[in-house]
Amino acid sequence: MEFGINAAAFLFGLAVGSFLNVCIYRLPKQESVVFPASHCPGCGSSIRWHDNIPVLSYLVLGGRCRHCKASISWQYPMVELATGVLFFVAVAIFGVSQETPVYLLLLSALIVIAVIDLEHQIIPDRITLPGIPLGLICSTFLLPTGLVDALIGLAAGGGGFYLIAVISRGGMGGGDIKLMAMLGAFLGWKAIIITTLIGSLMGAIVGIFLMAVKGRGRKHAVPFGPFLATGALVALFWGEQLVTWYTGFQL
Ligand SMILES: [Zn+2]
Repeated sequence: MEFGINAAAFLFGLAVGSFLNVCIYRLPKQESVVFPASHCPGCGSSIRWHDNIPVLSYLVLGGRCRHCKASISWQYPMVELATGVLFFVAVAIFGVSQETPVYLLLLSALIVIAVIDLEHQIIPDRITLPGIPLGLICSTFLLPTGLVDALIGLAAGGGGFYLIAVISRGGMGGGDIKLMAMLGAFLGWKAIIITTLIGSLMGAIVGIFLMAVKGRGRKHAVPFGPFLATGALVALFWGEQLVTWYTGFQL
């Protein structure tokens, strides 16, 4: 029974991931994510439902369009698989509860933000700006966060990263500020601390690695969104344990 629900969450995640691919492709172009139906970017032919089955269709078609044989990015099945796995973990941890749908929505937003930031070095306002009030509403009525914690989280995330942006003189983008404000509104101030610590640590490690391997200068900023999204994911799934472990460590 338990496993059946988790497996269903995985399959649902695969299907949602397919839609997230559309968002990742169209949001930076300011296109509608609903119309028109999916079509091949190579030849423009519309993709039939049986060629649009998450992960499977990619494998069956060998990563190519059925009509023009243009190769399809491996990013599509990866996003579908990642969404499936994250939905599986979320339902395994939070079960069938009122907060779970909110967390699935937040995870979906984080996947879209991370991939778009990686590709275009932008974090779309169309996700983060509505996300801030939505986070406050969900925290008040559906999540264990509560309104007060959400407001402190919003101020800590948005304000903290605004300060970093001022001090670093543009080293931090406006998109990162709005993303952190949104995360604070959904997850509260403790999650902001965890997200900042883990995101910075990962960003520093990858940054140093890229500088060493590719000889990239400090000017080539690594997009920070994917690291913040990963930090938020850790805060969401294992935040309670981390806080308990850390405070136990202190005593
Ligand atoms: Zn094609």
